Amino acid sequence: MTTSRAKFDTIIVGAGFAGLYAVYKMRRIGLSVRAFERGEGVGGVWYWNRYPGARCDVESLQYSYSFDPELEKAWVWPERYSPQPDILRYAEFVADRYDLKKDIQFGTEVHGAVYDEAANRWIVRTSAGEFECQYLIMASGGLSTTQVPTFPGQEDFQGPVLVPGAWPRDPVDLAGKNVAVVGTGSSAIQIIPAVAKVANQVTVFQRTPNFSVPMRNKPLTPEARKAWLDDLQGNREKQKKSRAGQIFEINDRRACEMTPEEREAEMARRWEGGSPNFTRAFADFLTDLTANGYAAEFVHRKIKEIVKDPETAEKLCPKDHPIGAKRICVDTDYYETYNRPNVDLVDLRSEPLEHVSRHGIVTSRREYPADVLILATGYDAVTGPLLAIDIRGAGGLALREAWAHGPRAYLGLMSAGFPNLFMITGPGSPSVSVNVICAIEQHVDFVADIVNEMRSRGADRIEPDVEAQDDWVELVRQIADSTLFPKANSFYMGANIPGKPRVFLLFGGGLEDYTERCRRIAQNGYEGFRITAVEAARPKGGLERA
Ligand SMILES: Cc1cc2nc3c(=O)[nH]c(=O)nc-3n(C[C@H](O)[C@H](O)[C@H](O)COP(=O)(O)OP(=O)(O)OC[C@H]3O[C@@H](n4cnc5c(N)ncnc54)[C@H](O)[C@@H]3O)c2cc1C
Repeated sequence: MTTSRAKFDTIIVGAGFAGLYAVYKMRRIGLSVRAFERGEGVGGVWYWNRYPGARCDVESLQYSYSFDPELEKAWVWPERYSPQPDILRYAEFVADRYDLKKDIQFGTEVHGAVYDEAANRWIVRTSAGEFECQYLIMASGGLSTTQVPTFPGQEDFQGPVLVPGAWPRDPVDLAGKNVAVVGTGSSAIQIIPAVAKVANQVTVFQRTPNFSVPMRNKPLTPEARKAWLDDLQGNREKQKKSRAGQIFEINDRRACEMTPEEREAEMARRWEGGSPNFTRAFADFLTDLTANGYAAEFVHRKIKEIVKDPETAEKLCPKDHPIGAKRICVDTDYYETYNRPNVDLVDLRSEPLEHVSRHGIVTSRREYPADVLILATGYDAVTGPLLAIDIRGAGGLALREAWAHGPRAYLGLMSAGFPNLFMITGPGSPSVSVNVICAIEQHVDFVADIVNEMRSRGADRIEPDVEAQDDWVELVRQIADSTLFPKANSFYMGANIPGKPRVFLLFGGGLEDYTERCRRIAQNGYEGFRITAVEAARPKGGLERA
């Protein structure tokens, strides 16, 4: 039977940094490609998150692609930490430079994908019809599915309800408005200081305070750019050989090997310098509760020094999780903002949110008037975007069923029963625990190597062994248990989504360790993967072109 479906070697879901690089790379190894993106442009989270104050928390020079030195020379980052408009411009620049948009279909949502076992092809169901491919690459993002609660009465609220991850494309005028912000995670920590500057009143509704360190953003000088470019290869190597995909100043000494004065001086210097570099103040910062406690106590003291009202300061001090067990927030004037007369903090632990009224938010204590609601309540991280699509593998196995008790994926890249389906920065890989662009490049390159290997063997089907996958899932659990990560109710643990299995979603051993494991697996003939030839005919195309 013939069908009129358009056929491609590769279909890619998403046109954020992962999708863009996957289009580039798969084309380079000679595959035909079509990417589907539900948005009307490239950039992924930077296309969607246009909220005031949106900015990356990795230094701009490092939060960028490394695959082409000429690209690095062609692009100038104006600031140490880039704001959303600059990152979006960069994504556009990359897409244009490599002519990627011709293979991207915008405004098209992928609803489902079914693996046709006999044909060894994926049938991909989209809002624009069905398409067919051999390789399906999920570049759908780790933080592209927002978690939006519906509070009782919310539908009656008279003003706009805004969500950071789906911020309107036209600028929203909040000048002179009474704004209620629900949530105090990394987006809220960026939004609150920016909105407080223009709004009449900002009321922040906090359930759980988060640790935040200062960003100390500044213009990126030509000298700093030159220094980076002068040792471009060395700098990129350092990033790839780091835990977090970022160049931090690593202290090899454990907290107990330092005197209290040394610890204090080390933390104070790093606090003044800004950035998550603070979390590398001791070697055991993220693994030992006592060491971590010194840092938590330091930040509590800083909050109390900065915030003038002692009651507000106390409420802002996180006490229920170790510092760094959630992705640390990086802010500009977050704590200082609570000294403004137009900013109030409401602690939802002591006065629970009861409902939304027509004109504000009602807690157990009183009604707080608001013209605008901002629900900065986070994301259904890592698995959310994958499970939002109805994916059915061999024998009709639904991914939602296979992962009912938590995600199961070998290397966080492929799941048994779902041949030829690759998940860029999927669950069980370093993903959103590191500088994600580094994680993306490593994963996409690894997929391209796999495809080249398959072609050299005359193979056309790959999937992980169940045993290798089980071992990987167990390794991910063990590594997580050796860190402080599981001690926080974070999105890393799926704890922010009602009913989501409580599983640490990421490979906690860091980017370098992970990359090295992938390298060894490849060197050992892609051990743990079953690579077979379903069709006798070898697919067209050659090995990677220069
Ligand atoms: C506000 C914010 C700030 C961040 N800051 C940093 C940072 O400073 N440093 C860092 O390392 N990481 C940061 N991240 C994490 C960020 O997710 C990654 O850095 C990176 O941008 C992810 O790129 P991606 O292409 O994998 O995913 P995304 O950027 O999420 O792109 C995925 C794309 O897939 C599309 N898509 C998803 N499902 C479908 C579907 N079914 N059909 C069609 N299209 C679909 C989405 O519309 C989206 O455009 C941040 C995330 C957010 C939300």
